[in-house]
Amino acid sequence: MSSLQNFSKNTLNPMNEKETFLSSLGSLLPEIDPNCAEKMFEYHAAVELANRSINLTAITDPGESAQKHFYDSVMASKFIKEKAHVIDVGTGGGFPGVPLKIMRPDLRMTLLDATEKKTKTVNSMCAELGIDADVVCMRAEDAGRGKYRGQFDAAVSRAVANLSALAELCIPFVRKNGIFIAYKSQDAEDIKDTSFCDELGCVLVETFDYPGRRLLIFRKIEKTPDKYPRPFARIKKNPL
Ligand code: SAH
Repeated sequence: MSSLQNFSKNTLNPMNEKETFLSSLGSLLPEIDPNCAEKMFEYHAAVELANRSINLTAITDPGESAQKHFYDSVMASKFIKEKAHVIDVGTGGGFPGVPLKIMRPDLRMTLLDATEKKTKTVNSMCAELGIDADVVCMRAEDAGRGKYRGQFDAAVSRAVANLSALAELCIPFVRKNGIFIAYKSQDAEDIKDTSFCDELGCVLVETFDYPGRRLLIFRKIEKTPDKYPRPFARIKKNPL
């Protein structure tokens, strides 16, 4: 297809954009509730619009967004217990937290990011679409030492840091026996080494693969030592 045709297909005809999104999502998640799929499209459209003025994502094509943002995000759902309080660390444009919340209204969702422009935008998109989430603008290493420490049944995170740094940022949020789910590529180098687990008080309990991607599910089995998370510069300089 020429770029002009592509432009007219997706920009001048919003129905086509919606059909493309819904058919891509429906082929990946054939059991999805139509109302959920519709809400996911609304969120996709809001992100795509906001993305014209603030950089939330490199993925705006509707079919690609359905797969790489929405389908990818909800893959962790089956590992998260009913009514869990979940924190999405480094949520950016709301991924994976927002699609998880749309799919699982029973969850209580906290979306955390250090960039205020992003949290403000995510907050207004959620408010507009009636998606009930707490949006927090803080650095994870600060939030994890304060009132958010040990408060969550699950922490999820995608595309924020390498695995050991991510675990150091995420595990402190989780209560004992809670879980941390890292979204990674199957070919990522950092997923080979989980030797940080002992130090943080967690174990790798399961991995789950789907095309190109892998979820790593850690369970927190002991209290995390008070010295974690360290300041980000130190996490980077001396990774666990
Ligand atoms: N999770 C989203 C965004 C990934 S981009 C997605 O998968 O699409 C990484 C995001 O993490 C950015 O929005 C950045 O602001 C945030 N981030 C990076 N380091 C952080 C930290 N230490 N604390 C909180 N947010 C952080």
